[in-house]
Amino acid sequence: MYSIAIDGPAGAGKSTIAKRIAKELSFVYVDTGAMYRAIALYFLRKGTDPANVAEIEAECPKIHVTIEYQDGEQQVLLNGENVNGFIRNEEVGNMASKTSSIPAVRAALLDLQRNMTKTADILMDGRDIGTNVLPNADLKIYLTASSAVRAKRRYDELTAKGEVCDLATIEKDIIIRDQQDMNREIAPLKQAEDAVLVDSSDMTIDEVVDAIKEEFYKKCGK
Ligand code: C5P
Repeated sequence: MYSIAIDGPAGAGKSTIAKRIAKELSFVYVDTGAMYRAIALYFLRKGTDPANVAEIEAECPKIHVTIEYQDGEQQVLLNGENVNGFIRNEEVGNMASKTSSIPAVRAALLDLQRNMTKTADILMDGRDIGTNVLPNADLKIYLTASSAVRAKRRYDELTAKGEVCDLATIEKDIIIRDQQDMNREIAPLKQAEDAVLVDSSDMTIDEVVDAIKEEFYKKCGK
């Protein structure tokens, strides 16, 4: 069984790239950000203040996140409800960045993530996959890009969906999210010592996909 870990900051293109590579290598793609987003949605719906750590810890045993695949697409279930349609927005992403810094929230997802590598070749993306979730991954990639490039990509994505948004606000949110994710005490976002750095600022999607596949063939000779 092979495993590939891709970590990096918000908007680096991890999920687009990871989905493509998983398809081309016939791996199962696991989007761990979606799991943290599902938990954030639970607290947003409850109106919980993310600074209220005691309440979040007390609620964690009531939250069950599970994963299913429909036509190869990951579906996240929150206490049995498919929440895929509710988690892909900035409000949930920003809440996820806050609630994911609480150890009880991370503990709730760790076993689920680790167990997934036991039954299939897995490509998992997130913030702490190479450093914490899968320390023995066959290949670790740290995928990044400048905050300006990441903001522009997110802006283009949102405007293509018809959403009205402001580039400067998006970049500001990305920088705040980076700071929260990189500076938290538990499982902060950082490049694993044995990870390959890929800066996609001046690369196309195809170039990034090819570069990572090349690394995989080099390391695993598959
Ligand atoms: O990658 P995505 O933007 O969906 O992740 C949302 C948030 O979930 C991140 O900003 C981060 O705080 C958290 N996360 C995490 N660890 C992971 C994946 C995501 O803390 N492995």
